[in-house]
Amino acid sequence: MMAENVSLETIANEVGTPAYVYSAATLTRHYQVFEAAISKMDALIAYSVKANSNLAVLALLAKLGSGADVVSGGELKRALLVGIPANKIVFSGVGKTVDEMRDALTADILQFNVESLPELHALNACAKELSMTARIAFRINPDVSAGGHEKITTGKAENKFGINIDQAEAAYAEAANLDHIEITGIDMHIGSQIDTLAPFKTALLKGIELIKTLRAQGHNIRTFDFGGGLGIPYSENENTPPLPELYGEMISKATQGLDVKMIFEPGRMIAGNAGILLTKTIYVKKGSVRNFIILDAAMNDLIRPALYDAHHNIEPVKFSNNGAPTQIYDIVGPVCETGDTFAKQRELPEIEAGDLITIHSAGAYGAVQAGQYNTRPLIPEVLVSGDKYEIIRARPTVEDILKTEHIPDWV
Ligand SMILES: *Cc1c(COP(=O)(O)O)cnc(C)c1O
Repeated sequence: MMAENVSLETIANEVGTPAYVYSAATLTRHYQVFEAAISKMDALIAYSVKANSNLAVLALLAKLGSGADVVSGGELKRALLVGIPANKIVFSGVGKTVDEMRDALTADILQFNVESLPELHALNACAKELSMTARIAFRINPDVSAGGHEKITTGKAENKFGINIDQAEAAYAEAANLDHIEITGIDMHIGSQIDTLAPFKTALLKGIELIKTLRAQGHNIRTFDFGGGLGIPYSENENTPPLPELYGEMISKATQGLDVKMIFEPGRMIAGNAGILLTKTIYVKKGSVRNFIILDAAMNDLIRPALYDAHHNIEPVKFSNNGAPTQIYDIVGPVCETGDTFAKQRELPEIEAGDLITIHSAGAYGAVQAGQYNTRPLIPEVLVSGDKYEIIRARPTVEDILKTEHIPDWV
């Protein structure tokens, strides 16, 4: 198996395993497919940095013209560092601190997506202190069910995100009275890995109605940030998410004549299927009821299966299609948790210790969610382009981890 024109075996030998491997060509293609899908609208793509925030990935997307949706001061710093213009950056998140607001105001970002009234007042005070005005959209929670898993649905009334749609008019009225706040639009992000158009359409129509109501009340609504959330195929056996083209067409038709600038915050759709997790088999263990493939990657490197019961396709790097014998395996990592299981009861060609294995669709919400549980250092990220590749995040050593810790004299 290759990543573009580079053999994964070469990367495993030279970089070591486990490692994330991303394809520059696929990242580019996904960005351009999304760009084409929304090309009929006046629209900004603000790539959701949290999906994959590596500086090289951000720099590549910046070069293609992408803006950024950031959810922390750290992500803001990343976006600015790679040269994403401030007027293409929006700031989302339920718990922005005053320090983060100050940084974003100073950078003069396009828009704050404000998620509560206390946040609104904190932002107004912060802008006043800097003698500035903060451009805002309220994140509206339209009370729509969406997202493949309860942990990634965000648009229901009981979720922590945004302002309930029935409280929106009051919130805008309150914002209009603040001297250092300028209302520019509305914002909605209803969930992630959404695999049908229906919830998007329901939310969109509610958003359009709200824009009309707010305008009738005298608010100058110019932007409609519709968030991210478009799903990607993780497996042949699951629902196939709508093509970006159909998503774009639906939104373009519904917003025709509305005279708003659309903002989109795709994350997974761009990065998810542009990356794999490359890992090596440490042992194959034949139990009395199950066979286990024990990998050198674990839940601390890719937490999606443990956290969201997510399915990832898994394949050996080397296999032949001509009737090689297969086995049913549970595929697990070395971490001391039963939850450290990538897949159960998968049919694979017979695997031996030392065999390289790829875990697919790992480009989004993979490296960014990694941790160092069991004192396992973060794993490197590699970017491939054509027949070249580079390490875009180095593997720290155990010594690097231990250096940050300190034993008090009195212990
Ligand atoms: C996570 C997130 C996104 C991106 O979601 P995807 O499903 O990766 O497209 C966009 N906007 C906000 C506010 C988010 O929290």
